[in-house]
Amino acid sequence: MSITIIFIQYSLLRKYEWQDILPIDSHYVVKFEEPEARSKMKPTWFLMSILSFCTQIRPSALFATTPPPPEVDLIIVGAGLSGLSTAYHAKKAGLTYILLEASPHIGGRIRSASYPEELQGEVGLEEIWEENPTLDIIRELHIPLEKFVTVFSSYQFGGKTLSFTQDSNESFLQSILSPTEYQAYQVWDARMAVLYAQLQKNPKDPALVELQKVSFSDWVKQDKSLTEKIYELIRIQSEPEYGTSWSQICALDGIAEWHIFSGKGEESYHVIGGNQKLAEAMAAAVGMEHLSLNTRVTQIQSTENGVLVRASDASTYRESLYRGKYVVSTIPLYMLQEIQFTPPLTPTHREAIQSQTWGSYFTAHVILDAAAQEYWHVKGKNILPLRAEGPLGVIYDGFSPKADATKVLLNLLITGPAAENFNLRIRSVEQIQTDITQSLDTLWPGSGKFIRGFAFYRYHPRAIASWPVGRSRFDTLSDEMRKPFGRVYFAGDYTEGTHSHHAAQSALRVINSITHGEPAAHPSGAQLVPHAPPCKGPATSPCKKL
Ligand SMILES: Cc1cc2nc3c(=O)[nH]c(=O)nc-3n(C[C@H](O)[C@H](O)[C@H](O)COP(=O)(O)OP(=O)(O)OC[C@H]3O[C@@H](n4cnc5c(N)ncnc54)[C@H](O)[C@@H]3O)c2cc1C
Repeated sequence: MSITIIFIQYSLLRKYEWQDILPIDSHYVVKFEEPEARSKMKPTWFLMSILSFCTQIRPSALFATTPPPPEVDLIIVGAGLSGLSTAYHAKKAGLTYILLEASPHIGGRIRSASYPEELQGEVGLEEIWEENPTLDIIRELHIPLEKFVTVFSSYQFGGKTLSFTQDSNESFLQSILSPTEYQAYQVWDARMAVLYAQLQKNPKDPALVELQKVSFSDWVKQDKSLTEKIYELIRIQSEPEYGTSWSQICALDGIAEWHIFSGKGEESYHVIGGNQKLAEAMAAAVGMEHLSLNTRVTQIQSTENGVLVRASDASTYRESLYRGKYVVSTIPLYMLQEIQFTPPLTPTHREAIQSQTWGSYFTAHVILDAAAQEYWHVKGKNILPLRAEGPLGVIYDGFSPKADATKVLLNLLITGPAAENFNLRIRSVEQIQTDITQSLDTLWPGSGKFIRGFAFYRYHPRAIASWPVGRSRFDTLSDEMRKPFGRVYFAGDYTEGTHSHHAAQSALRVINSITHGEPAAHPSGAQLVPHAPPCKGPATSPCKKL
């Protein structure tokens, strides 16, 4: 498993234990056998049976088989937001489907942790932005939401905390920038909005494509009407969104990412009681009987008539074959490198996957005595989230179903180099505890003494997609991943952008493409998937309708 998410159990300050929650690699080369080929094996099975009978070994113990699952319209790989959304829309469209999920967990990078102290915190997905098509599903399923945070956050600048205590983004910006700076910022932000609109209309516009060749940081700094303080504002606010340095992504992606901050900024939401409830409600809506957990897809074969998917059970290593009309892979693109494809992915696919880079996240939950809350309350207002300097990343509030909880939880979304450092285990968990304690003490002197425990969650090697200078989510390589490959469709946030709304959009794109042969809305607005011919072409041609 390339993404090794190691769950280090909640631990007391100096006492911890950890365990892998995902299985280790189990990948080996086995050729597909078509049913005809299997029938040729009958003499072998006959001999094996005699041998087994003689040795008192039951053949089923050697070659355990289960009845093949019925053929479905869609085999969906991965039960994260993209996979669940695909199944949700498939159900509405009257398609049959099965979801195969490698881990024991429903929701992928949606995961909410809870603790014996009656505390909870998000490990993955935190904010659901207003443009997220998932909000439609949330409303249809009557999942209770709370409005979350304003798009700009309090942040540390030059060793000081600039606290967001105002009611709107505009008044916060006015409080931290001089009138001239605020004016310059407004002009720049308006230009960003224009560029984003142009990007949506025609991402292939040569003037825009040029912006793929320069880093976001270099491009922003070409604007000399902005001051150092504004550069830092843009950097500090946006970097956690893509989980890497703004010098590591191209300007085109920077413009796309800035969209959530533009103008008044987007509203964001959170599921009351934890975003995990969203994944659970979606799983219930699509039917748990259609979901197979601990089922790692290892091989995908696409033929003229359908697809054959081979998957391995994580606990028994028993292999099963699934037959369908189409496969929708919703796993992060780099994980495709672990699946054997027949026919193999093209060199263009490989290039698209391998030249994508990544954003890094490491989540730390810090449990403190409730008295510590004083530190993040200014003028009676909670100033979290706070984008902190050093390794603390974005400090979010945890939540508790109990109003009078004696403990509180801080949720640190650690990003960039600090996250990479922690993820790679260059530092031990005790050193990470020390780093975090010292950094909290520097931010809020004396706060370290309130810490009662930590829990750490790694996203290794990647947490979210990013595109380096020279590449972008709008380029032809990205377009290639959004096209069907024979009967295989690629979805997942990595095919569209960096966030959960991209995961949700990818599901809509695929379902629209399969049911109508139509390209779905893409953030760029571009026509990405060609109208498909009827389902009679060769294996590599896209098919129109089921
Ligand atoms: C720490 C963190 C914070 C985030 N915060 C936000 C936020 O505030 N707002 C926001 O919009 N987005 C946020 N995101 C991004 C958001 O979580 C993702 O965009 C979204 O959850 C991705 O969903 P997905 O279904 O595309 O992928 P995933 O959730 O990764 O789902 C893919 C699934 O495929 C499974 N899988 C992998 N390989 C196989 C295989 N071979 N066979 C079967 N199954 C397989 C995996 O186990 C996984 O369950 C955050 C991400 C992280 C990591």
